[in-house]
This record gives sequence, structure tokens and C-alpha cells, in this order.
Amino acid sequence: MYVRSKVTNFLGYSTTDASAQLIDVLAGGEKSWLVFDQTPFYAEMGGQAGDSGAARIDGRTIRILNTVNDSAGRHLHEVGERLDASLRGIRAELAVDRTKRKEICKHHSAVHLLYWALRETLGSGLWQEGASITEGGIRFDFSHRTAVSAAALRNIERMVNEKIADNAGVKTYETGLGEIPEDTIGLPGKEYGDIVRVVDIGGFSRQLCGGTHVETIGEIGRFKILGESSTAAGTRRVEAVAGRAAYDVAAAHEEALAKVSARLSAGPRDVVEKLEALFARNIAMEKQLKTLKGRVIATTAAELALAAETAGGLKFLSALVAAESTADLRAIGLRTLAGLGEGVVQLGAVAGERGMFAAFCSPAAIGLGHGAGALVRSLAEKLGGKGGGDLEFAIGGTFHVGRLRQAFAPPEPRAGRSAAEASEAASPPNHE
Ligand SMILES: [Zn+2]
Repeated sequence: MYVRSKVTNFLGYSTTDASAQLIDVLAGGEKSWLVFDQTPFYAEMGGQAGDSGAARIDGRTIRILNTVNDSAGRHLHEVGERLDASLRGIRAELAVDRTKRKEICKHHSAVHLLYWALRETLGSGLWQEGASITEGGIRFDFSHRTAVSAAALRNIERMVNEKIADNAGVKTYETGLGEIPEDTIGLPGKEYGDIVRVVDIGGFSRQLCGGTHVETIGEIGRFKILGESSTAAGTRRVEAVAGRAAYDVAAAHEEALAKVSARLSAGPRDVVEKLEALFARNIAMEKQLKTLKGRVIATTAAELALAAETAGGLKFLSALVAAESTADLRAIGLRTLAGLGEGVVQLGAVAGERGMFAAFCSPAAIGLGHGAGALVRSLAEKLGGKGGGDLEFAIGGTFHVGRLRQAFAPPEPRAGRSAAEASEAASPPNHE
């Protein structure tokens, strides 16, 4: 014989272990949901995660993975196997995972402290819009139009930690909706029953709340804000950790700082200064590098100019140069053409597995019918690559490095090419 009750009697405010009667087994797929007449398992509600733990049923220990509510107010205990409905009516010993529950309680009480500190700092026009409370952290959404400054967040975090150190007690009681103290905060828009539960922390934070809490807030240990962001227009979100999770975050930060500190050979207090010095040196070196590059380009351009040939009042130059980027190739070409005056310059370069080529035409050369774009397009066709540009400047690339070397090789007085170049040029194209 068993009694089918509508609402599960929740014992979890005062205990985490209880004996209960299994009154229903709901099955779906490879899972079942167990319903007991009473339970210490908190069912996911008001943002607080459901409890997990174990049930001793019929001589077996069964893991309870999660607990949720159904619309009738029954606590559904999720198990990862299909259980036989014939178990209905049997007695069970229920045990909540106490460590996890404890961490959830710390986070829930921390949410109330955070809410209090946010309203103290940003004004009492601020309201909770949502929350997620687990053993690993909290997300708290609230109405606020603008981002909360880093300074305000630091202050809020400090206020919460000072309250935790003060270690006030948490009082919970049920009372008539009309009897609650004046400054008690409820969820705006939520419809409450005639009897409500008040969670009063140290007299400074009073909320209507059905969640589970620590007994004194010193148990929270520490509180750390991880970040603040926007979730929708007019809604901000604070993410934070408390208890063990806050310790873990602090330990991870310390470890990261220790690594940086060791790499910089500086104490934690000096790392920022050391890092700034390193950045400054980096900027100085980049400047130096730019100057040196400019000099190399100027020297290269001057040397190239010597090899130019003159025809019809224009200078013509075609050469393979050392350049690591198209920007470098362009700079060398522009500088060379400027040195030559009026003419046409075609340059090739090899960077890794890629070949680059570019053409440059002066105004007089363009006037005489030359064009950089046409030269590069013709080169691209010849070298199995791609390229384009306008009359003054055009650039292209190819993976056929051998063909490029060959095209830009200086005319040799001796007949034939070197064996290496010949074999490279003859190798079949494997990139396009
Ligand atoms: Zn609450």
C-alpha cells in the first residue's frame, strides 16, 4: 500500500538524509524519475540547481543524477537506468551529496549578498531578473542600463567579502504574505502564495526565497566576481564564484602569475613594471628594424638601377630580389623606379614556397603604352599564377617557384641553365 500525494514533502532545509516511500516510477528512454512521499533532495527551482546523491532501494544503491520539479510540485529524482514500476510502495533511504549541496548553499547565500551589495551601490531601483546557482558558480542577471565599472565591481566584491568576514547568521522562516517585513525583496512579477518563506541575512538582506542556504555567512569563505556583461538591452549579468570554486579560481590565478613571474624573473609585485619595460623594448626594436629595412631597400634599389637597360628614352629592369612580403617587394620596386626616373621595372621574389612578382611603370612609360597590370597578367599566365593591378603598379603570386626563378634569371653569357634550376623548372606543377 502506498499513498499518492500531490506535492512532495521537502525535508531538505534541515536534513540531507531521510527515509521515504517510493510512490511512483516514471520511465523514459534509458532513464527513470523516482517520486517519493518526502525527500531531502532540492528540486531545481528559482535558479538553484537540483540535488544529486544516492537512494538505497531494495538492497541496491542507485545514483540520483539530478532532481527537478513537475507541474504538480512533485520532486522527480532522475536515475540513469530504467527501474521497474513494481518497486512502487517500497521504502528507500535517501542521501543527498552533501559536499555538492554545501557548495550550492554557499553560492545561493552569496547571490543574496551580491544582490544586496548591487542595490547598495547602484540603487534600489535595481531588480533581479534571473539567476543560475550551482556548486561551481553563479550567474546573476539584473535590471541596469549601463555597464558596471571595474571600480564599482571591485567595491561590490569587497562589500560582500567584508560581510562574509562578519559572519552574520542566516534566519529563515515562513510567514503570511501580509506579515513580511517592509524591506523584504521578492521577485518582481512573481505570484506568491499566502505563505511565503523569508531568508534574512544579518537583518540587512531580506528576500522571499525557497532556496537552501548556509547557517552563517562565514561558511561562504570567499567571494570573487569573474566578470560583468550585457545579456539584453537593460539587463546586466555578473558571474561570480564562492566557497571552494572561489578558492580554485584564486589558486589558478596565483599559478598563472607564478609562471609569468618566473618567466620574467621578477617577483609578483614587479611583473607589471617588467612587462611594460619589455613592451617598450619591443617597440624600440620594431622602430630600429623599420629603419634598417629602409636602408636595405635603398641599397637594393641602388644596386638594381645599375643593371637597367635603356631603350627609347626609358629604362627597363627585370630582376629577382630578396623580399619576404609583397609589401617589401612593392617598396623595393617603387624605390628602384624612383631612382631610374622614367621606365618599367619588373621584380620577382621567393618567400618560402611562394613566388611573388610585381611590375611598376612610370608616367612616361605609361604614355608610351606600357602598363603594370598587363605585364603582371602576362607574367601570371607564364608562371601559372594569379595577379593584377593598374597601369602604375601590379602584383601577382605563383607556387611555381622554379618557373619564377627562371623568368627573372639574369641573361647568362654561358649557354643553358644550372642543373638545379633546370630540374626545378621541369618538375610538374603540384600547386595552383
Ligand atoms: Zn534566494
